[in-house]
Amino acid sequence: MTESTTGTTHRVTLIPGDGVGPELTEATRRVLEAAAATVGSSFDWDVRHAGVDIMEAEGTPLPESTLQSIRDNKVAIKGPITTPIGTGFRSVNVALRGELELYACERPCRTYEGVRSYFDKVDVAIIRENTEDLYVGIEYESGSPEAEKAIALLNTLQKKQIRAKSGISIKPISEFGSERIIRHAFEYAIKHGRKRVHCITKSNIMKFTDGLFLSVFREVAKDFPDIEPWENLVDATCMGLVQRPAEWDVLVLPNLYGDILSDLTAGMVGGLGVAPGANIGTKAAVFEATHGSAPKYKGQNKVNPTAMILSGKLMLDHLGETTAANTLETAVADVIREGKSVTYDMKPNRNDPTAVGTAEYADAIIAKLQG
Ligand code: NAD
Repeated sequence: MTESTTGTTHRVTLIPGDGVGPELTEATRRVLEAAAATVGSSFDWDVRHAGVDIMEAEGTPLPESTLQSIRDNKVAIKGPITTPIGTGFRSVNVALRGELELYACERPCRTYEGVRSYFDKVDVAIIRENTEDLYVGIEYESGSPEAEKAIALLNTLQKKQIRAKSGISIKPISEFGSERIIRHAFEYAIKHGRKRVHCITKSNIMKFTDGLFLSVFREVAKDFPDIEPWENLVDATCMGLVQRPAEWDVLVLPNLYGDILSDLTAGMVGGLGVAPGANIGTKAAVFEATHGSAPKYKGQNKVNPTAMILSGKLMLDHLGETTAANTLETAVADVIREGKSVTYDMKPNRNDPTAVGTAEYADAIIAKLQG
C-alpha cells in the first residue's frame, strides 16, 4: 500500500477468471475505481490469470506467479473460474483456499429493494469454516481395500457395526479450527455492529465433532460479552430462516452446513446474481462472487455483476475504505431500486427488452457515484 496525496493507492491482485469472469471483472474494476475516487483513493491492479483460458499456455490453471502475486499483495479479487472436468486438474478455487489457508468464508446476504425475492428484511452474515469437516476430502470408496480396512478397524472400536461395502467419508473438526472461525465470527460481529452470533450445528447427534464446535463456541463467547451467543440446530435454522428471516444475524457454521446455508440465504435475497463473498485467511484475503463461471453466457455482456461488485464492496471494507464501501453499496441499492438500468435477471420479466447489459449496469452505478 502506498499513500498518495489525496487518499490511498491499494495494490490488489485482479484475476479475471474465465467464462463470464472477464466481463464481470471489467465491470467491477470500473465501479471500484469510481467508488475509490469518491474519497481520493485508487487502485494499482496487478492483473494475473487463472482458469481454463490460461491452462493451455501455462500448463496449469493456477500459475505460481498468480499465487505469488496474491501472497505479495495480500488482497485479491477474482472472477469465477471453471473447474475443468476430466483433465486431472483440481479446482482452482479449492487450490487457492488450501494454498493461502483461506479458512473463513464470509457471505453477507441482505435484501435490496427491487430484487425479485419472496423475502424481505433479510440481513444475515454466514461465516463458514473452510478447511475442515467433510470437505477435507478423506474418503474411501465402497468396496476398496482402504474402505474395508477402515471398516474392519472401526468395527473393533464400537458395538455398532458398519455394513460391508459402505463408502466412508471422514468428518474431522478440531478445537484449533473451531476456535479460529468462531473468534473470526465474533470479531466480524463487533466490526460490523452486529448484535448476535448464532452457532449452527447438529451437536445433539454428532457430539464429538459438532459438539466440540459448540463447546468451543461457548468458551469463545465469554470473551465477547457485548454479543449475544445463540445456539441453533441446523435443521431448525433452515425452517427459522424462512419463517422469521429478520431474527437471524451472524451465523457461524462448520464447512458443510455453511456451504448449504449460504446457498439458502443467497436464494432468499434474490439468487446467485446478487450474493457476494470473501475468503479470509492468515496470509491473504480473496474476494469473489458466490456464483460460478456460467459458461453458456460467456461473452454476451448479459449476466449480472452485482455479486462481484458487492464482493468488491467487501474488499473496500477490508482495505479500511469504509466510506467508499458504503457509498458504493448505496449506489448499487439505488440502481436496483429504480429498476431501470438493471440486467435481465433483475427485471420482473426475464425477457424484458429494456434490460441492460453487464457493462451498462456498471455505467449506471458509476453515474450514481459520480453524480
Ligand atoms: P454457475 O453459478 O456458473 O451458473 C448457474 C446458473 O446461475 C447459470 O446458468 C445462470 O443461469 C445463473 N447465474 C450464475 N451467475 C449469474 C450471474 N452473475 N447473473 C445471472 N445469472 C447467473 O454454476 P455452474 O453452472 O454449476 O458452474 C459453472 C462453472 O463454474 C463450473 O465449472 C463450476 O465448477 C464453476 N464454479 C466456480 C466458482 C468460483 O469460481 N468460485 C463457484 C461455483 C462454481
